[in-house]
Amino acid sequence: MFRKYLLISILLTTLLFCGCGVDIHQVNVPEASVVYDINGRPIKGLAEENRISIGFEEIPDSFKAAIIAVEDKNFYEHHGVDISGILRAFVLNIKAGKITAGGSTITQQTAKTLFLSNERTWPRKIKELFYALELERSYSKDEILTMYCNTIYFGHGAYGLEVAARTFFNKNAQDLTAEESALLAGLPNAPSLYDPYINPEKAKARQGLVLQRMVEEGYISENDREAIISRELKYQQADYVLGEAPYFIAMVRDYLSKKYGERMVYQGGMKIYTTLDLDMQKAANRAYKEGMKEREADVQAALVALDATNGHIRALIGGRDFASSNYNRVFSERQPGSTFKPFLYSLAIEWGLTEAYMMKCEKVEFKLPTGDTYEPNDYGDEKYHWKEFTIKEALMISDNVIAVRVNDMLGAQHVADHAEKFGFKGIQPILSLPLGSKEVTPLDMAAAYNVFANQGIYSEPIYVLKVVDQDGKVLEESRTTQRQVISPENAYIVSDMLKGVMGPGGTGANLQKTVGRTAAGKTGTTDDFNDAWFVGFTPQLCCAVWVGYDQGRNVNLVGSVAAGPIWANFIRDASVSLPDLDFEKPANVNLINVCLDTGLISSESCPRRSRMAFIEGTEPKEICYYHTFNLDWLLKDAATP
Ligand SMILES: [Zn+2]
Ligand SMILES: [Zn+2]
Repeated sequence: MFRKYLLISILLTTLLFCGCGVDIHQVNVPEASVVYDINGRPIKGLAEENRISIGFEEIPDSFKAAIIAVEDKNFYEHHGVDISGILRAFVLNIKAGKITAGGSTITQQTAKTLFLSNERTWPRKIKELFYALELERSYSKDEILTMYCNTIYFGHGAYGLEVAARTFFNKNAQDLTAEESALLAGLPNAPSLYDPYINPEKAKARQGLVLQRMVEEGYISENDREAIISRELKYQQADYVLGEAPYFIAMVRDYLSKKYGERMVYQGGMKIYTTLDLDMQKAANRAYKEGMKEREADVQAALVALDATNGHIRALIGGRDFASSNYNRVFSERQPGSTFKPFLYSLAIEWGLTEAYMMKCEKVEFKLPTGDTYEPNDYGDEKYHWKEFTIKEALMISDNVIAVRVNDMLGAQHVADHAEKFGFKGIQPILSLPLGSKEVTPLDMAAAYNVFANQGIYSEPIYVLKVVDQDGKVLEESRTTQRQVISPENAYIVSDMLKGVMGPGGTGANLQKTVGRTAAGKTGTTDDFNDAWFVGFTPQLCCAVWVGYDQGRNVNLVGSVAAGPIWANFIRDASVSLPDLDFEKPANVNLINVCLDTGLISSESCPRRSRMAFIEGTEPKEICYYHTFNLDWLLKDAATP
């Protein structure tokens, strides 16, 4: 008994002591965090998080009853604090040696949200009591309840009832039905646990508990409860003003929420410095809109662009419409089709093959370990070309048979191992590997191609550079992680082959005019036409675009038609302020004109020629004899020193 009196006197003394000198009008109003782009411009989204205050009249009676029944049944009777509840909590906390139990009234919770940080310390807990008493003295019960409804957190970034109503039921608070009010009133207690989008059963059970309390407190009858609980809840998110980069902002928010908690992210006044470039993001949005305007409503697309020099994510689009589907498809695993071929040819170059190496596209049978046979063939009407190509042209026209033959020649295990150097995981050493048998994400693809753009260096993609708290303290800072995975010569030669894709005869030839600057890239279309890709780069910027259905339905479009134009329009617009650079040629690489029909040094008589890159000493030694038997020409050439 003595102990209890001692506790009460300690509590009251501290309460009075802490109360001295605290001014209720100096409120520490929660401050939204701001996300900045690479140039320090705020990215719309997190800062403009809908924070909509409504008046007492707009809060439906059903919600008032529900929230009071479940959070603070004596709200209209007490003086801001529930003394017996506090004492109970106090004793429990003393026993536990730390603050665990709450015993918070609606007034205390409002005080906490409005004036205090989220830490659980004794002085903070006592200040909360003081502020609660002050609130009760300065405001009416209805005003306090209104403040409470406008500030409590319901999950999914929704602070306040109005935003919650829009977030979960796509309507205004005043239009909420009794079942919706009861559902929402259950959320503030544990927003993540009862998240209706993630745990609909738990949310429903919590609604049941709220309704039970409402019966106990006489707000509704048992019959009402049964009627209300039987009604179906339809969750739907409203269209917000989402800003220029909703998927990027969501990615940043999810990352930070996991690390620091949602309250800190939404109300902690953090400054979040990211890698996004708003101008490039706008270019991406325009290219995306233009490229998708003819597509059916449920065809999706993802775009991600990286700075070639450091792996910074400069632009990102995760889908068609964030409001209807916030799933970020930049992280979606899809079959890459022929966009996987460059990794094969990179190993071929590493093993001493040259761009001019000739191989025949013809019917070939491979015996598989299973006893089956595998016969690769090209897309389109003709299964085979029945002729020889240089491997540069094989990549330019995206020949499947030659890719599989080269894979067989190098050994699929070696090719798989080589591909994993570019950041991929779990590549199976199978013959169809270069045709894109392993599903990969658009982000992985952009990071992998970035190796070619940046002289053989792999850069880990990053998007948050620095996080600073309200007081200016740096909470974290990221730097680029890089490793050399292929030689600069190899990167240059593969880039040269991929430049060929954009040239006459290449599968991306229709895009070069749009891009209007030095660029390299590759189309990809899966066997079943479910996925269309274009991945390509300039020396400054690398971008992957994927187009398809979430459920893997046939889009009936090839990469160059569906994904290519989005990529090309983006690269053009995103690069306006960048100089038109060529890839940096290593000193020991020579450029030679080669006859595409023989793989030999071309003469003026060769009808199809291409400039190819060779590591010094690997150049073809002979002039194309097939097209060149003009003695005069040979003599003239020999006479030139
Ligand atoms: Zn072929
Ligand atoms: Zn020739």
